Parts: sequence; C-alpha cells; structure tokens
Amino acid sequence: MRALLLDGSGVRLDADRPDPVPAAGEVLVRVLQAGICETDLQLIQGYKGFRGVLGHEFVGLALGGLHEGRRVVSEINCSCWTCETCAAGRQGHCPHRTVLGILDHDGAFADLIAVPERNLHVVPDSVETEVAVFTEPVAAAFQVPSQVPVARDDRVIVLGDGRLGQLCAQVLAGLSDHVLVVGKHRQKLSLLDGLGIEGRLLHERPADRTADLVVDCTGSESGLATALDLVRPRGTIVLKTTIARTQTLSLAPVVVDEVTVVGSRCGPFAAALDALAGGLIDVRPLISDRFDLSEGVRALERAAEPGVLKVLLSAQQP
Ligand SMILES: [Zn+2]
Ligand SMILES: [Zn+2]
Repeated sequence: MRALLLDGSGVRLDADRPDPVPAAGEVLVRVLQAGICETDLQLIQGYKGFRGVLGHEFVGLALGGLHEGRRVVSEINCSCWTCETCAAGRQGHCPHRTVLGILDHDGAFADLIAVPERNLHVVPDSVETEVAVFTEPVAAAFQVPSQVPVARDDRVIVLGDGRLGQLCAQVLAGLSDHVLVVGKHRQKLSLLDGLGIEGRLLHERPADRTADLVVDCTGSESGLATALDLVRPRGTIVLKTTIARTQTLSLAPVVVDEVTVVGSRCGPFAAALDALAGGLIDVRPLISDRFDLSEGVRALERAAEPGVLKVLLSAQQP
C-alpha cells in the first residue's frame, strides 16, 4: 500500500509499504479521507520523536468486524483497558497506550490502517466524508467544555485563528454569547463573520484582564503569556496546542491571580458527530486544499504555509 512515512530523514511517500496486520482486537480500515493537523507538522519538527506512518484524523471504510462495510471514524488513543488508569476511566491517559500516527502506532496517511475496533464510531449517513474527517479535531474542541463549565454570560477568548481555534470558537459560541477570537490573520478571522463570532487582530485585543476563560490554540510559545494578559483573576486558561519547543515563562502571575491552567487534548467523539450531523459546526469553510495521498509530501508542505487552514488527503486508489 501507499503510506506517508516519517523516518530519520524526513517525510516521504512509501509506495510499497506492507499492509498493516491487525493486532488482537483491531480491524483493518480502508482510509477514504484524512486531514492534516498542527500535530502532524509538529511531529515532523521532532515532537515526540515519532517514526512511522503519520496521520490521526480520518474517515475510512471498515473492512471487518462489527462495522464491516460502514464508514467509520476512530478515536486515536489505543489503550490497554486493563491497567489501573484504564480501570479508573482515564483510558486516554493509559501509560501503555499507543496513539494513531503519534506514538508507536502507524497512522492514517495511508491506504490502510489497523485500529482497535472499540475505538471506532460509525459515521451517520447524513454526514459527508469530507465533513466527518473533522470529527477528531471537533471532538478535541468539545473537550474544553467537558473540562471547564461554560455559562451564557462567560467572556470567552480563543487565542489563535487557525484550524483548532476556529473549531473551539464554534463549539464555545454554542455555549456562551461572548466569544471573541484573537488571531493574526484578517482573512482567517473573516471566516467567523458569517457565524456571528467576533474576531480581532492581536494588537486589537482587549487591554483589560476580564476574560473568564481563555483558550490557547495558538500553537506558539507566546500563547500562554498572552492568555495571562487577558484572563481575569481566578479565571481559567485552557491550553489546547502541543509545542515541540520548550518555553520559559514566569508563573508568578498564575499564583498571584490564582489562575487555573488546564491542559486539554482529545475529546468526546459522540458529541462531535452529533454536532456535525446537526449542522451545529460548519467545517467546510476551513477546507483550504485537497490532495491525493500520492501527493502527500506536497500536501504537508501546503498545510504548513501561512494562511492555510485544513488540507485534506484522499486515499482513493489510482
Ligand atoms: Zn490532530
Ligand atoms: Zn491501560
């Protein structure tokens, strides 16, 4: 099969990679479409030292098991389900886990992927493949309100107008009437106009510290510092992006102002699929470009260009 492989020398298309062999409890899925996300770009920069097939956002056709023949999306953490952490309900943090396309498990930028059957969710017929491919990042956005209660009156600021920032803004705008997105790109911020969400450039951000909740989706070292300039005392900052580089920052303001800082990663797939099926989240404006898997290296370069939001990879056989 074809696969986009990250090895010691970079990313390349392996046109002749052996098909994955499903482990116990896994099924083979034929990838229909996959999405490139910031994490993929960070992995290429060296984050986590991953080696293998990239890709963790995808829709595929189950080739076996309970959902054979159906379109499926997959949660990305492959947990052991037997250790203490898993038994306590924190499967996403299983110390023995692998993660699709991120940690010790080949990913979805390929014709085929093997995934634990219990990770799969059937895509409702009404949700098109090109929309369902956003399930994983939309679920990540839904993780914010699952960790931090959001009220109608809360002032919410999303930092970052990129892929994840746009999705977090849409999810949070369903809960609060005061969502503001602060970004660096007028063109990306303008996508929010049609959704009734306010967007402002970084230098136009509020000067006062009154936000109840700030969600950092910047993918930049400066995100947390900016968030600390916006959050009110005893407010909450949610950190959504993983950064390969180390950062230094004085944490004294966190202590003095008793700010709660919450790390946030993967989220509930069921909520994401419901929202996509119900049309509550509009993902189409986020699609910047589409490539065939065979042009995957170019697609990754394109996804890293400024101004680009989601780049999709189709894995149709030539
Ligand atoms: Zn991702
Ligand atoms: Zn476990």
